[in-house]
Amino acid sequence: RKKIAVMTSGGDSPGMNAVVRAVVRTAIHMGCDAFCIYEGYEGLVKGGDLIRQMGWSEVRGYLSEGGTLIGTARCMEFYERPGRVRAAKNMVLNGIDALIICGGDGSLTGADRFRSEWPSLLEELVSTGQLTASQVKPYKHLNIVGLVGSIDNDLSGTDATIGCYSALSRICEMVDYIEATAASHSRAFVIEVMGRHCGWLALLAGVATGADFVFIPERPVSECWHEEMCAVVKRHRAFGKRKTIVIVAEGANDKDGNKITPEQIKNLLADKSEGGLALDTRITTLGHVQRGGTAVAYDRMLGTLQGVEAVKAVLEATPETETCFIAINENKIVRKPLMKAVEETKSVAKAVEEKQFDKAMSLRDTEFSD
Ligand code: ADP
Repeated sequence: RKKIAVMTSGGDSPGMNAVVRAVVRTAIHMGCDAFCIYEGYEGLVKGGDLIRQMGWSEVRGYLSEGGTLIGTARCMEFYERPGRVRAAKNMVLNGIDALIICGGDGSLTGADRFRSEWPSLLEELVSTGQLTASQVKPYKHLNIVGLVGSIDNDLSGTDATIGCYSALSRICEMVDYIEATAASHSRAFVIEVMGRHCGWLALLAGVATGADFVFIPERPVSECWHEEMCAVVKRHRAFGKRKTIVIVAEGANDKDGNKITPEQIKNLLADKSEGGLALDTRITTLGHVQRGGTAVAYDRMLGTLQGVEAVKAVLEATPETETCFIAINENKIVRKPLMKAVEETKSVAKAVEEKQFDKAMSLRDTEFSD
């Protein structure tokens, strides 16, 4: 009987619970034993009651809960080999031979590393006398499948990550609230949203709420952004608009790589000197409301369909199969090579960090045309 474990790792995102429920129930339906690893890699390293076998009814009600009910953590020990040796030991002691991990690019990189080191981890466990050769023999091959849980929609190779539409919906709802009060007082609001390397949330929220101006990391503004933004706001005000909404991603930059801060934007909108807009301006940082709360229908569906596919991928894998993650492309749930997506994602983030914005944009373009 195959023993399949599921865990959530890295930053939580709405829809992770749908993944856990789908994996547990599909595994049981396919005649396997299902396990949950609590607290991400921390649970794998520590073992004990952080690794639990799950029954069908234990994941009842998971769909309508936000966050991740089996917990997540950042685990420093898993970055080091001794931590991964302990993790491998706990897998063998629990008889687990397949692992489904839902997390961001960090978690998925860790997963790939774990799988590529697996034979040598087992060897070390035997040579140091922690386990016997016969104990490790049935676990020669470790199957790992990744699922992308992230509110930022920041992984290459998939159209949507689990959680991104929930965060986007939450942002739109919050902007609607703010708009009502902004219009009443004829005010301007600068709204900071999450996204250090990836401006998807800011951009899409801007489109969905009809914001006046949006700042994102991948498309830095030119040196004359002050004039450009003020001209746009002035034009909209001249049309009779009583509110001004500017959305800024956490990682927004100008072309020289200087951070664009909400305070800078506020000062500009509020400038009372001659020719200034002199708008009564407030800043709202949305923060963790974007991450929390229940998942929208799309994320529940995505988590469920991808969870089912992940179990199928585990059951169909052979020792030669490349480690895959489950993506959605043009509305189809598909399997794709894990490390290629992680590497592409990292090169976009690196290009943004190194201020090579044209490169970042062209990498994103390739990703979109894939
Ligand atoms: P996310 O998965 O959201 O990108 P992190 O980057 O914090 O979040 O990764 C979550 C956890 O995954 C880390 O705390 C660590 O335990 C593990 N991890 C991340 N990167 C690696 C790596 N290169 N090698 C081993 N483990 C890693």
